Amino acid sequence: MKPAQQKKFDKKQFQANVKKHLTATYATTEENASTRQWYLAMGQALAEFTTLDLLQTETDKKITDAKSVNYLSLEFLIGRLTGNNLISMGLYENVTDAMAELGFNLTDLLEEERDPSLGNGGLGRLAACFMDSCAAQEFPTVGYGLHYEYGLFKQSFKEGAQQEAPDAWRGIEGYPWELVRPEIAQEIGFYGHVEVVMENGEEKRRWVPGMTVKAMPWDLPIVGYESNTVYPLRLWECQAIAPFSLESFNNGDYFEAQHSLIDAGNITKVLYPNDNHEKGKTLRLMQQYFHSAASIRDILRRHEAAGHALVDLPKYETVQLNDTHPTIAIPELMRILVDEKGFGWDKAWSISTKTFAYTNHTLLPEALETWSESLIQRLLPRHMEIIYRINHEFLMEVRAKWPGDVEKQRKLSIIQEGFHRMVRMANLCVVGSYAVNGVAALHSSLVKKDLFPEFDELYPTRLHNVTNGVTPRRWLKFCNPGLSALITEKIGDQWPAHLEQLSDISGFADDKAFQKQYMAVKKENKQRLATWVKENMDIELDTNAIFDVQIKRLHEYKRQHLNMLHILSLYHRLLNEPDFDMAPRVVFFAAKAAPGYHLAKEIIYAINKIAEKINNDARIGNKLKVVFMPDYRVSLAEIIIPASDVSEQISTAGKEASGTGNMKMALNGALTIGTMDGANVEIREEVGDENIYIFGLDVDGVNDIRARGYNPFDYYNSDHLLKASMDLLLGEEFTPGEPGKLRATFDSLLDGGDPYLCLADFASYVKAHEEMGEQYKDQSGWAKKAILNTALVGKFSSDRSIRDYVNNIWKLEPVHR
Ligand SMILES: *Cc1c(COP(=O)(O)O)cnc(C)c1O
Repeated sequence: MKPAQQKKFDKKQFQANVKKHLTATYATTEENASTRQWYLAMGQALAEFTTLDLLQTETDKKITDAKSVNYLSLEFLIGRLTGNNLISMGLYENVTDAMAELGFNLTDLLEEERDPSLGNGGLGRLAACFMDSCAAQEFPTVGYGLHYEYGLFKQSFKEGAQQEAPDAWRGIEGYPWELVRPEIAQEIGFYGHVEVVMENGEEKRRWVPGMTVKAMPWDLPIVGYESNTVYPLRLWECQAIAPFSLESFNNGDYFEAQHSLIDAGNITKVLYPNDNHEKGKTLRLMQQYFHSAASIRDILRRHEAAGHALVDLPKYETVQLNDTHPTIAIPELMRILVDEKGFGWDKAWSISTKTFAYTNHTLLPEALETWSESLIQRLLPRHMEIIYRINHEFLMEVRAKWPGDVEKQRKLSIIQEGFHRMVRMANLCVVGSYAVNGVAALHSSLVKKDLFPEFDELYPTRLHNVTNGVTPRRWLKFCNPGLSALITEKIGDQWPAHLEQLSDISGFADDKAFQKQYMAVKKENKQRLATWVKENMDIELDTNAIFDVQIKRLHEYKRQHLNMLHILSLYHRLLNEPDFDMAPRVVFFAAKAAPGYHLAKEIIYAINKIAEKINNDARIGNKLKVVFMPDYRVSLAEIIIPASDVSEQISTAGKEASGTGNMKMALNGALTIGTMDGANVEIREEVGDENIYIFGLDVDGVNDIRARGYNPFDYYNSDHLLKASMDLLLGEEFTPGEPGKLRATFDSLLDGGDPYLCLADFASYVKAHEEMGEQYKDQSGWAKKAILNTALVGKFSSDRSIRDYVNNIWKLEPVHR
């Protein structure tokens, strides 16, 4: 099934359109235009196709009469859209040809696009993959997010230390794929007070906000793969309402009058750069409410415009909350139904709890959101009253289930008692949703067992698992054209929409000719990465070496410092063990640290310093190189992943909810070296024990060792290789003239108690690496393992994740256009 657009594609017309935008939109001429201006004009010409389809999809009666999912997320880490949209539209070859005639290489033009980095990491990237999969399978969807002026900061290194710079992703010219939709803007209130009014002899409560701002929607087109379906990713921008304070304007206080304008602009100015860590800042809560309120109003606007009654909301709309960040949408819907639409509490609650579903992304205590009651009280006084009422009714249920058990009430209450009373957003979500899901089988079982065991007793059908996935369009077809062509040659071209078909490739795993072709593609991809590293970092790499890759946010639980200890152990052995024989390797890192996460930045600094020494140490030669690539983002992942031989997924068991980087790399033929954590468990199930390197403590092992009283000094004092490796951090080996500059990690691993058990897993990690290195030497054996990884991970398509949501939670039908 090929898209209709392809038939409509008229090369001459398209080229004329590009030229038209060059002059009409970007005020330049063919002679003077820069490559960037040609990219922008091409983007505008392409967006003309998708805009039409977006508007037609949105007004299509088949769609407005069907049930839709509304995906609410504070983050959408979409990455560049142009290349991916060309693939979905089936126009990649046509446009390559059309632009070549104009004298441009499409790949170069695509490089001009700045990544829209509107997310931190896995959670935001998941939202982007889910939008792609909803559109590909034509499940009616609207994505709701925020139009941050600045996305995740840009990272560079200065003498090894992370530097942050603002990410003005839209540039001066704006982003060619976005459409502003002023006709559906909303007004959003903050602060103020609650009034009591009498209505038909009944007391009614009404919020009177003290400040009002405008929510301006910008739509990005999510193009269905090989279909005419285009759904909106609707991103809200905060603006002041004009005319701003006319009174002070007339009083001559021009600057005073514009204050509200400046304040309003602040709400969506910048993405908070914390991954798996909540800080409780007022502006962050304002972002959350702004996002929820604008999205809920838009959902109700669409519902009512389609002629549906409010009581039927759950029949037509479901709202998926991506983590607790949009939780305030629950009391907001209740407020609208009760205060504005005149519903009684019970009816409103019945509508609301049939509408919301919640995805839990973490068990880490520092990432579980709580908001101070006094802050919510001040910012959203009516919502606080509604939360009290929800909690009151809920605690009655708890008392009925466990009569007299005060401890249960204390533990489950939405309000956490104490000197500063806090609202527990996860508890509010579980109480207010019809379904709650974890993101991998292991994680979901821990959600049931450790996080919400009482909720599971109280609501036995509410907790689900939906294992995460990644879109095969971006993460195989687009980023790895060589492998895609090879796969298509063997099994046809339907696999990007039916990834389970990849299993047919396993029939070629032993085929020597296929192994050669497969490894030749891998080699080309490694060369492409090596060229990038040479050009951007001036480091020479040997593409025969194992490309060993750890790319993800920098976090102690992800244990980049365990990888660093392993590198130190290799360095120590290369220098001190004359017979030490290792397969040459290049260890790649890419990771941003939250600007306020001190130890994470110390780890980046240490790895950079270690890299500098090792890469220039003639005694090591080409046996070992360490490359920390700056500014990890989607477009960088697209270069690294196809070139990876080994995928490092080494989090402490029980800490990584799922991971999706693990899926992307396995799909591209990397062998995982990993712990029994997150989706690694399910990857092992699919690829088989002989095609993955599992090491370290599992969840039970972690619990046991802690119960016995974990002491990292026991490991440090008894394992010579570990001690020698760690001690390298104490001197001036990597920081000449400045001894002890890398102590921070050393100290956290010993005096700091090694909270993520790096030392406990070190020996087993070293052993897994030795086995992996040995097996790499057998290139045919390795090729077979790599092929089987590609062949056997079809389960991890986000198309399957979305079908799981649709069948088990959302209960909706595709609408084919
Ligand atoms: C996939 C992806 C992630 C998530 O990686 P994990 O290894 O699952 O943490 C983060 N950032 C980017 C840019 C990604 O593409």
